[in-house]
Amino acid sequence: MHKRRLLWQLFPVYLLTMLLTLLAAGWYGSRTLKEFYYEKTGGNLMSRARLLEEEITRQLAKGEDYHRIDDLCERLGGPASTRLTVILPNGRVVGDSEKPADEMENHADRPEIIAALAGTPHPSVRPSDTLGIDMMYVAIPLERDGRVLGVLRTSVPVMSIEGSLRAVRWQVAGGVLVVAILAAVASWFLARRITQPLEQLKRGAEQFARGDFSHRLPTGDSVEVAALSETMNQMAAELDARLRTVIRQRNEVEAVLSSMVEGVVAVDQRHRVITLNQAGARLLTANFETARGRSLEEVVRNPRLLALVESVFSEKEAVEDEIVLYDPDERYLHAQGTVLRDMEPPGARPGEIGVLVVLHDVTQLRRLERVRRDFVANVSHELRTPITSIKGFVETLLDGALQQPDDAVRFLSIVAIQTDRLNAIIEDLLTLSRLEQDPQRTDLTLEPGRIREILESAVAVCEPAVTEKDLTIDLTCDPGLQANVNAALLEQAVVNLVGNAVKYSDQGQTIHVEAEQVPSGEIVLRVRDHGCGIAREHLPRLFERFYRVDKARSRKLGGTGLGLAIVKHIMQLHGGRATVQSEPGEGSIFSLHLPHPVEASEPA
Ligand code: ADP
Repeated sequence: MHKRRLLWQLFPVYLLTMLLTLLAAGWYGSRTLKEFYYEKTGGNLMSRARLLEEEITRQLAKGEDYHRIDDLCERLGGPASTRLTVILPNGRVVGDSEKPADEMENHADRPEIIAALAGTPHPSVRPSDTLGIDMMYVAIPLERDGRVLGVLRTSVPVMSIEGSLRAVRWQVAGGVLVVAILAAVASWFLARRITQPLEQLKRGAEQFARGDFSHRLPTGDSVEVAALSETMNQMAAELDARLRTVIRQRNEVEAVLSSMVEGVVAVDQRHRVITLNQAGARLLTANFETARGRSLEEVVRNPRLLALVESVFSEKEAVEDEIVLYDPDERYLHAQGTVLRDMEPPGARPGEIGVLVVLHDVTQLRRLERVRRDFVANVSHELRTPITSIKGFVETLLDGALQQPDDAVRFLSIVAIQTDRLNAIIEDLLTLSRLEQDPQRTDLTLEPGRIREILESAVAVCEPAVTEKDLTIDLTCDPGLQANVNAALLEQAVVNLVGNAVKYSDQGQTIHVEAEQVPSGEIVLRVRDHGCGIAREHLPRLFERFYRVDKARSRKLGGTGLGLAIVKHIMQLHGGRATVQSEPGEGSIFSLHLPHPVEASEPA
């Protein structure tokens, strides 16, 4: 439906009402005025007739000489501005102030004459047959001694009455016009006064709709508008508060989701992503920014995850699965899918709106499990080799070899070597398990120690092997260099590294043992050899337990495969780390990185 402005609805009605009222008042006024005028004129004519009644009756009574009557009419009518006519009961006109009486026709049929002769004189207005204009007539009977001698008629042209009335009407119309203009202006202002506050309310409401709740509507001066704007202001304040609460809650939820380590993916009934947090996007290598609203198939191309979501949809209960991703490293995700329920409205039976999947990255856990499994297998394997050997030789001895002294000595010395080997493995395992215990334990104390002293005593431990292989050890270290260390453990680590360098160096080579403070503040201890070196693919796993590049060679050299694992643990206890650089055929550099020392180096 076509809508009009309130102003244009109110204003014409006001205006029309006022105009009609004024017209009605004007019409009624002019009618009353006319009636009043007629009455007054009638009365006037009547009194004039009554004034002349006596004189005319006397003349009539004198008899036949009607000339005198005609003259009398002419004489009296002129000054009185009234037409006077005298008529005999038979209708014959015997005197008239305007026309010669004998030229006039019989007046017996004139209504005022009939009324006067009937004894009920009353004014009548009609066009004059004689003069041809509208006239008002009043006629009274002229009686003497109970006999009607004639009728005296007084009349005035109504033209003059109408003229006066018209003038009055024009004045009234002028007044109506002025009042109408004033009324129009007044009703315009009145309508504006009603519509203006409504306009303001409308503008305010539009501002609210745009989200600007700081705006307040003016209260205006009418009770109704004040109440309305008050209510709207309250509504705006309420909305503002609710909106803030909603935004705060959304921010909180988003903060929680984005701070979670677990990945969270929520999809609706149509498999479109409702929520995907940063961790989820990272774990699934999806685009966090664009995921929302798109279908899960598009966002995550993993059939296992899609199947999990599907089975939660179909089974309507929690489902767990492990998802393996290759991108390119192997990663394990533990996924838990549950039905996503709507908690709105509170108290109602929750409806199912989709599926929620929580993803935990269990790669580390799986890796550790594998390492542990491998470790147990390795330990068993490592222990079994010397034990099998010992058992074999002991059985051979028991089977009679004991009787041959040469063989017996050789076999027993092999048994002794294998026992040493067993012992070495067990020693190393014990060292490792000690190191693996809680690093906070009290017997591990770190205190400032001179690095050079530690390096020197480690080199001294390896002295026999060095001499045996005719190697040279080149030690470079500022005697003042200090670090926060557990001297015994750090020495053990250096011994392991120097021991390896000795084992894998060729006859007559030089091993460099150095320590320095690097610009980053770290203190770095290096053991550098020019031995066989290590192929690149082995480097990442070199510090794992029992990891050996060449098992046979390591065993032959009396290695347990645990030396570098022990080094790694010792460095961890120092809050540092161990690294390796190596080039096959060129040699290897093993570095121990210690965090910032407690004191700056000082001269010895
Ligand atoms: P092992 O007791 O066998 O030496 P480690 O844990 O000390 O065990 O060393 C692990 C493996 O790393 C060794 O078996 C060897 O293959 C390799 N390795 C360690 N140090 C060196 C080195 N200086 N040069 C070449 N290979 C080395």
